[in-house]
Amino acid sequence: MSDREILVVEDERPIREMIAFGLRRAGFEVREAEDSRAARALLADRHPDLLLLDWMLPDMSGLELAKLLKRDKDTRELPIILLTARAEEADKVAGLESGADDYLTKPFSPRELVARINAVLRRAGPAGGEERVEFEGIVLDRASHRVTVDGRSVALGPTEYRMLEFFLTHPERVYSREQLLDRIWGGNVYVEERTIDVHIRRLRKALEEHGRDHLIQTVRGAGYRCSALAH
Ligand code: CA
Repeated sequence: MSDREILVVEDERPIREMIAFGLRRAGFEVREAEDSRAARALLADRHPDLLLLDWMLPDMSGLELAKLLKRDKDTRELPIILLTARAEEADKVAGLESGADDYLTKPFSPRELVARINAVLRRAGPAGGEERVEFEGIVLDRASHRVTVDGRSVALGPTEYRMLEFFLTHPERVYSREQLLDRIWGGNVYVEERTIDVHIRRLRKALEEHGRDHLIQTVRGAGYRCSALAH
């Protein structure tokens, strides 16, 4: 995983330095920013492989910055992990709904942080198998990491991309939330099952603009299924 670059945005210097130290030891390149403004200046220069973003910042909050970056087509695909001292479930859902790809509550160990970063990078990275997957007019191109419907580009975050990739390659079968977590996130990362619902909502919303949201179906009491057939 070396030569992957992480941008750490955290105003509390001892915490930022501790995180940067741990990441460098794990083989990452690290750049540091003390607030949202500094982060945006660094992002204008070049994009890191992942953004580690603290929720509480002195200027624009990490939550607001995540929303802003996910709305901008230049930075939409940049993976973001939100760091926070707030452990409330509602905050976690708000964090994920901002567009962040994962959410980590302080305090966390360097090992846990590296595991989460690697999991998000894995999801954002290329997967094996056929280069092109097609289903009901949706074309997923693994080489370019692009998804199109009838030739029009679909805007997806890295997690929604992985989720769609899984569904398109496993159609007409019901998967429980637990199975989806296992297959999409990998078994060694702790993610709450409710997280799945947030990403499903986001995936449907992205597909809705292209009239394909009906393909991702909720199967009550069982989980989710990708199907072209009516419920
Ligand atoms: Ca902070």
